[in-house]
Amino acid sequence: MTGKLVFLETFGCQMNDNDSLRMLSILKDLGYSRTDAPERADLIIINTCSVRGKAEHKVYSTIGRFRPLKREKPSLIIGVSGCVAQQEGERLLKRSPYLDIVFGPQNIHRLKEILSAASIGKERVVATAQSLTIDDSEYGRITPASGEKASVSIMRGCDNFCSYCIVPYTRGREVSRSSAGIIREVAALASSGVREVTLLGQNVNSYGAGGKADATFPELLRMAAGVEGIERVRFITSHPRDISEELIYLFGEEPKLCRHIHLPVQSGSDAILERMGRGYTKKEYMSKVSLFKKLYPDISVTTDMIVGFPGETEGDFKDTMDLINEVRFDNVFSFMYSPRPGTLAAGFAGQAALDVKSERLHVLQETQRGITEERNRALVGRRAEVLVEGESKARPEELSGRTSCNRIVNFQAPKALTGTLADVIITDAFPNSLRGVYQDSPSFTA
Ligand code: SF4
Repeated sequence: MTGKLVFLETFGCQMNDNDSLRMLSILKDLGYSRTDAPERADLIIINTCSVRGKAEHKVYSTIGRFRPLKREKPSLIIGVSGCVAQQEGERLLKRSPYLDIVFGPQNIHRLKEILSAASIGKERVVATAQSLTIDDSEYGRITPASGEKASVSIMRGCDNFCSYCIVPYTRGREVSRSSAGIIREVAALASSGVREVTLLGQNVNSYGAGGKADATFPELLRMAAGVEGIERVRFITSHPRDISEELIYLFGEEPKLCRHIHLPVQSGSDAILERMGRGYTKKEYMSKVSLFKKLYPDISVTTDMIVGFPGETEGDFKDTMDLINEVRFDNVFSFMYSPRPGTLAAGFAGQAALDVKSERLHVLQETQRGITEERNRALVGRRAEVLVEGESKARPEELSGRTSCNRIVNFQAPKALTGTLADVIITDAFPNSLRGVYQDSPSFTA
């Protein structure tokens, strides 16, 4: 199997991006290279996400787009992976005669045998088996999307069963990889030039819970920070209920830990949090955020919010807006609630009308836009260390990178700085990025 081309389309979250990179590494070993042109591909994979609404419709319409290609080239293999594949399984094959393979997130490591059954055996394959154990050989080194940063999955699945979320059903029960396997992967990435690593999990704070791994999450972060060549460590996603004081204090002890915490709150109303099954109150959430802000005034705090959850009243929404105004998040990723089939909340009474959800989302996003701009403006005149990612997309004559707080900074400097940490003075602030002036003198102080 040599000289073949794969077209891979990814929907959804960082976890899915990481899964796509794992697929590409496996496919590279099988002689595939990536193409942006589906009409040239020998294999098309649609890596799906069902966390947000209308996921299945999107998948069927995407498969439909590729149907004429299959007619022209019968040897073309079309596959669906990810959460929709896990959820729909056989149904996808029944509804889509042009589809060849369907495989869930726990079956990525079986891609070689799945493809061989589809191409040599001419079988249509569904691989959606789930396991309660995790084998490090399922992971291993992935080819990072960029030279300077990469993410590493440290666990799989989730045991929380928040009432709106499909993840525990599609990605399975929570299970952690061994710290040795994770650190081996981080070290391999570092030796290939990666400087920043993000440890990924649905709920990283419960890494190793129940004796399923040989280290706690703070211990794992320390180990990753200790890998030679690694300059920065991030992690995502942190469940507010499970974040420990040990982890909060680690930000003060481990300089390689980036100054950014993403702590998804989802709502500011205790009644809604209870119905979501989140396991914390607004007060408990606030006490953790306040401790972060008190200990590290420069830290960036971001969150996720869902508006229009079933039963959300004007009073509940006001509680959410009060929380937003009180915390002054650096950024909020906000969504209208949309029922995911198979979840508890999909059957709740009091599903909100679309215009109500849309109005609330608008109010929230307008308020947050102002806060984000204000938080960005406060950085003007300050020094930032930027991990340079390469040319800016909008202005190729400039370089672009991210601060430890995860803000994008554009500035003029020699291209040779790509992949290094650069000192930049922030001169301008915009809603989604900053502009700065590169300081080439290492003795510079703000
Ligand atoms: S913590 Fe809740 S929202 Fe997050 S993946 Fe688990 S069930 Fe879904």
